[in-house]
Amino acid sequence: MLNAQAGRPFSYKAEGLCCDQAPLAELAQRWGTPLYVYSWPSIAGRFQAMQQAAEQHLDGADFSLCFAVKANSNLEILRRLAALGAGFDIVSGGELERVRLAAPEGLGRVVYSGVGKTAAEMDAALRADILLFNVESEAELELLASRAKTLRQTARFALRVNPNVEAKTHPYIATGLARHKFGIPISGARALYAKARKLPSLRAAAVSVHIGSQIRETAPFASAVAQAARLAMQLIRDGDAIQYIDAGGGLAVDYGLARPFDAQKVAARYMRAVAQAALNGTGNGPPLHWLFEPGRFLAAHSGCLLCRVLLTKKNGRRNFAVVDAGMNDLLRPALYGARHAIVAVNPRNGRQRYDVVGPVCETADVFASGVELGTVQAGDLLAILDTGAYGMTLASNYNARPRAAEVLVEGKRAKLVRRRETASDLVRAEMLD
Ligand code: PLP
Repeated sequence: MLNAQAGRPFSYKAEGLCCDQAPLAELAQRWGTPLYVYSWPSIAGRFQAMQQAAEQHLDGADFSLCFAVKANSNLEILRRLAALGAGFDIVSGGELERVRLAAPEGLGRVVYSGVGKTAAEMDAALRADILLFNVESEAELELLASRAKTLRQTARFALRVNPNVEAKTHPYIATGLARHKFGIPISGARALYAKARKLPSLRAAAVSVHIGSQIRETAPFASAVAQAARLAMQLIRDGDAIQYIDAGGGLAVDYGLARPFDAQKVAARYMRAVAQAALNGTGNGPPLHWLFEPGRFLAAHSGCLLCRVLLTKKNGRRNFAVVDAGMNDLLRPALYGARHAIVAVNPRNGRQRYDVVGPVCETADVFASGVELGTVQAGDLLAILDTGAYGMTLASNYNARPRAAEVLVEGKRAKLVRRRETASDLVRAEMLD
């Protein structure tokens, strides 16, 4: 099922599969393949859905949506999100630089997570006067205090607490269990905030929690948020000026096409659960400003990876469609066993199943097995759906393959927002005597 009700911006029209009103075949003709195609109205719609849900269910509390840059870091998309009022969740100096380039006015709405920040990265973020450092260890807290002191600044920070909550997601993207590298055990957090209180270059402003990604159930979020909220209230009693509670990201999307995806309903269910959990954690405490760090929920459904069939072949009993995109362009199937729906842009009659594979020299370079595609011929276009998040940002140059171009669509209009890499881009940083 792929129509306007599916919760995606992709639907079939007379010209074949379109993104909004732009025929994908025309985009492929103009900019070549593999090509990431995103719909801006889809991303903006998701942002607004989450905003509305927060407005409706957080009892009038202030909130900010800080887009997780790791999900999709295209500059044009960051710029447009900033114009909608988004903040940003970053995890590196490189992502900070992207926000600076795309939307310098958004730097004050940046929260900086990650278990291993360097001194240079901290300095850059301090100079940019970001909103919040999410500190993930005692050693990091000490380094941040020392860098802020050297730069004669006060660093606003949260401890990212690890609440030991099972996120019920893929083990590679679960981050909230005691055995994971992320965060600080919540049992030890109060003592660390007390230590920070003695360091004048630090100011505790928040409690943060992020338990993983692609989380379908609300119970794990609720448990994590209730624990974080209880800690925030305790810290306020201890004398910290806690203003924010950062609930992290992690809201799941559907990757299958079996049922329509109702983003408003999903966002509302999530906001209701976190609001109720916070109430359980804070009782009659002062209202806190919510920070959310959605990535996948805003961007995944907005994009597809458009690729062309190079050839078909049969090995034993398996039919292969070899396409011009590879695991270097879209790593999720190989890395996580992720399942993306794949559809023909201009479907032909017939019933045939294919393993859709890339040209990379790895057996893992398989996008999906046994996909019902009708008959496929060399030159046909396929769209790998729901690749607007963790698609291009996970791309690499493996096998010396230039990375794909990116196009942003709005209605009928389409704009190149990242050109295709060339062979000379690949060797630009290398030296030969
Ligand atoms: N915040 C942090 C700290 C993360 O590590 C991630 C991703 O894992 C996110 C937010 C975004 O998660 P998602 O894309 O699932 O919303």
